[in-house]
Amino acid sequence: MTSFESEIATTLEDITTFFRLLAENGCQGFECSKESLDTIKNWGRKEGTVSETLEAIRTDLGDCKRCRLSEKRKNIVFGAGDPHARLMFVGEGPGYDEDQKGEPFVGAAGKLLTKIIEAINHTREQVYICNIIKCRPPGNRNPMADEIDVCFPFLKRQIASVKPDIICALGTFAAQTLLETKSPISQLRGCFFDYMGARVLPTYHPAYLLRNPNKKRDVWEDMKKLMKAMGI
Ligand code: URA
Repeated sequence: MTSFESEIATTLEDITTFFRLLAENGCQGFECSKESLDTIKNWGRKEGTVSETLEAIRTDLGDCKRCRLSEKRKNIVFGAGDPHARLMFVGEGPGYDEDQKGEPFVGAAGKLLTKIIEAINHTREQVYICNIIKCRPPGNRNPMADEIDVCFPFLKRQIASVKPDIICALGTFAAQTLLETKSPISQLRGCFFDYMGARVLPTYHPAYLLRNPNKKRDVWEDMKKLMKAMGI
């Protein structure tokens, strides 16, 4: 993207946000349907140009050795679900079960995430699920800054390809990385933020819910907001 194109993209994002705010505040004077907002969102994208596919991004990732996590991983966990999902879930990184299977959120936390997805009237196949980093850190330690630096651009390309309306950021790490903030998840959760043409809704990580079941009520409140934003 040239700097001119990126300026246009930023301006269009601002216009989208502006119209959305008008619509959310009940403004009747403008036509703020999803179709019109999508027209604005896609303005300037060449007719007939298809954005990079997930397969192309996966191929580019290859047998990634860009950071030390490649040494101990069994599988790269790229992401799973509908490549054109309106709703994307972003977690932290693969754990043991995900590393074994090469699929995101298939362990105990994953089972709870599946229940959350079903509670909002979706299946796992209808959403897109991925993580900030694609390889399991040994012993499930926190990912290091240089590991995130090489992996995060691939997630950004996945977001640009899927073009979700909503990204649900699961837990502190996902929310803080996507939103480039150090604010605690307790402050971020339940609020919408604009990011790459999508709206990011942080909520608690399912693994945290397994340890703190009393927080499920908060997540349900967040999911109700999510459903409203999606028109469910
Ligand atoms: N926790 C995550 O953050 N991601 C997974 O894929 C599994 C557990």
